[in-house]
Amino acid sequence: MSLLTAWFSNRETAEKTSRPILSEILKTMREGVIVVGGDTRILASNAAAYNAFGRRNGALEDKRLSEVVRDLSLHEAFRKALEERTESDIELEIPGVEKRKYDVHVAPIEFDKTAGAIGIFYDITQIERLERVRQEFLSNVSHELRTPLTSILAFVETLQDGAINDGENNQRFLGVIRKNAQRMHHLIDDILELSSIESGGITLVPKSVNLHSLIEDVFTNLSSKITARQIKLKNAVAKDARVFADSARLEQMLTNLVDNAVKFNSETGNVIVTFERNDKKDVISVSDTGEGISGEHLQRIFERFYRTDRARSREIGGTGLGLAIVKHLARLHGGEISVNSILGKGSTFSIELPVISE
Ligand code: ADP
Repeated sequence: MSLLTAWFSNRETAEKTSRPILSEILKTMREGVIVVGGDTRILASNAAAYNAFGRRNGALEDKRLSEVVRDLSLHEAFRKALEERTESDIELEIPGVEKRKYDVHVAPIEFDKTAGAIGIFYDITQIERLERVRQEFLSNVSHELRTPLTSILAFVETLQDGAINDGENNQRFLGVIRKNAQRMHHLIDDILELSSIESGGITLVPKSVNLHSLIEDVFTNLSSKITARQIKLKNAVAKDARVFADSARLEQMLTNLVDNAVKFNSETGNVIVTFERNDKKDVISVSDTGEGISGEHLQRIFERFYRTDRARSREIGGTGLGLAIVKHLARLHGGEISVNSILGKGSTFSIELPVISE
């Protein structure tokens, strides 16, 4: 500010340069600025205001404020600035496909001996969205933890009330307590994992990895689950196929995908892992012959805690965080995850990785 004050204190320089400087400042501001005269016609505005309100209406200058934004509290704020010469702050919501929200500060100003008013529009759409996501996350976590905890407390009470001496049931009750405690443990591990990935707390060490053997390791680690379900796994990746990735993280992603492909498969279904390379990307796909996922869910299954059947996922030990973790890890690699699915036939989850040669 002191630089500008010094600049403008020289009247001659100020006359010549203040307008272009101000116009440059306005142009680069992220906040939208609208200046109106006493008759509420727009005298000046900047690019951010045009992007926010002008796209539908064309140039803003010379239009009345009411032609550009229809909002009673905004007009009231400008009226107060013009007539009562007072400042005010309001929240403005612009409806539409892409709903936007602004914090608006409106104040009286005076120029060339004319009274006018200025509105500064600060876009808070993204801040509000993040706040909503944070609240949803907290409420989801509390809900997910409460369910197993309620069950643990109920069974502990039953045991204390005498079931501890019931030789037929006491071991079974302890088994339920243990299963629920494990579920909470698993959930907390996944939450911590996701939060450390999201906050940039993990560093990838990418190198050239033999994909075929990595998939063999994934199958071996999941083998107890697989034999229990009689599901056939096929590693259709060529023995010499290599991708550029952090080996442990790639194994983690594929373990999540193969685990899901087993969990959501039919009793005697198949899971096949394939690999394709084109000039720009490597694509690793995990396909199953399970129940498939309907269109309405497909868009959302990579969201945290989103499950097509919450109760069932919980029953089979799911946390609803696996795919969110895969999505973040794929993106950390500069890649992406996608899904194709036919209801009743099966699903294919594909991890795309950029092709990088060492
Ligand atoms: P979960 O711990 O429930 O498996 P995920 O984030 O891994 O959580 O998956 C989210 C949801 O996506 C699952 O609950 C399930 O509804 C659906 N889903 C994931 N993989 C498959 C699949 N291979 N077939 C059908 N549905 C799937």
